[in-house]
Amino acid sequence: MTIDRMDLAAKLYQPGVFPVVAGVANGERSAGPLVVDLDPTTFCDLACPECISGKLLNQGRFSPERLAALAGELVELGVKAVILIGGGEPLAHRGTKRVIATLGAAGVAVGVVTNGTMIDHNLDELSAYASWVRVSVDAATPGTFRLVRPDRRGGSAFDRVIGNMRKLAEVKTGALGYSFLVIVRGGPDGTVEGNHGEILAAAELARDIGCDFFEVKALFDDAHHLIALRPEILREVSGQIEAARLLARDGFEVINSSTMDSIQRRDGPVQPKEYHRCGVTELRTLVTPSGVYVCPYHRGNPAARLGDAVTEPLPELWRRSDRGIVDPSRDCRFHCARHTSNLELHEIAAGRGRPVLENDLDLFL
Ligand code: SF4
Repeated sequence: MTIDRMDLAAKLYQPGVFPVVAGVANGERSAGPLVVDLDPTTFCDLACPECISGKLLNQGRFSPERLAALAGELVELGVKAVILIGGGEPLAHRGTKRVIATLGAAGVAVGVVTNGTMIDHNLDELSAYASWVRVSVDAATPGTFRLVRPDRRGGSAFDRVIGNMRKLAEVKTGALGYSFLVIVRGGPDGTVEGNHGEILAAAELARDIGCDFFEVKALFDDAHHLIALRPEILREVSGQIEAARLLARDGFEVINSSTMDSIQRRDGPVQPKEYHRCGVTELRTLVTPSGVYVCPYHRGNPAARLGDAVTEPLPELWRRSDRGIVDPSRDCRFHCARHTSNLELHEIAAGRGRPVLENDLDLFL
């Protein structure tokens, strides 16, 4: 039996997490998060103009000692899965290898979201312990990579990234993903530049590298509202995604993020929510050098900050923090990938939940 990696609501019914999920659905606080997004550092070697964390970059990191201690605290809290991510490039921190090894050896599932430039320095740990590594590539050629993901001197690291992905594909035990954020820039004179013409070529390259999945994503503005595509560009993007889907076979998947699904449905930038408490904040959290926040959408938002993991051990911080500080009906009117999870928690509370699955399949809730 398998579970769709994008079906976040279905993941709530796995036996390893359902008792906590059911408690949270019924208004209980959790004893610890089940899934943690962890930013080891805010440093990044690239300077992507559309980076959603652009204003938060290069503002500090966990010391190697604190990062190592945090990994132990995540194990102590009973966390099931950790995603190493940023605000910053997670593999740029020299302590990240040790975190991956500590978590992996303790049986915690590890996922890594990376720009790919430093995979080669972390190859042993990634191949041994990562359940998945998703590389943000957003291009199929060096020139387009330079346009959307320039390094800090304006150069293109495309060949290095693709070379690193090929190295990992040879030794990996988990999944390798190629992520493609569709970026379209319009000039005031009507000119358009972007990467939207390379979706199919990128999917072909992903399959050639030996990736397990190719994910197409849509762009947000600084307030996390989805940016719609002009009708003619949306048609071109949809046509390329459809063509890319024909490449799916032998374990290679082509998937849309929930944001790209929304763009294709022309949902509009706002996703209204009628509930006032986000149950997902009891199940997942975000740990960064600048603070612990209720979720990645609120990274750097002082009103959604639960505490400081630089100075306070995570188990204590979790015991005393109030995850109800965010009201989704007011504070999360943008598209949230975990809206369906919150709706499912309401179904469980109302006694309309689904049967619990027989096995744990994918604990990245
Ligand atoms: S509803 Fe709001 S607080 Fe909850 S996960 Fe989504 S953005 Fe974060």
